[in-house]
Amino acid sequence: MNKQPPKEYQCKHGHGKGILLVDIETESIPKLDTHGNWQYYCLNEQHVFSVRPADIKLQEEEEQKVTSLV
Ligand SMILES: [Zn+2]
Repeated sequence: MNKQPPKEYQCKHGHGKGILLVDIETESIPKLDTHGNWQYYCLNEQHVFSVRPADIKLQEEEEQKVTSLV
């Protein structure tokens, strides 16, 4: 599986927006932790958090539900 992570993701601690950490040299390959999770940097509280690809899929499905209700 070669899934691409979103550039931004809501901090799981409720701080707001986090940005995807990528390899400095390529500026496109996402950084992974030892579990293969994507790494995000929380802009408001300035800490790194990891996101499992499976969790991102769940968030996308929830956003689609909200949109369909409007
Ligand atoms: Zn945070």
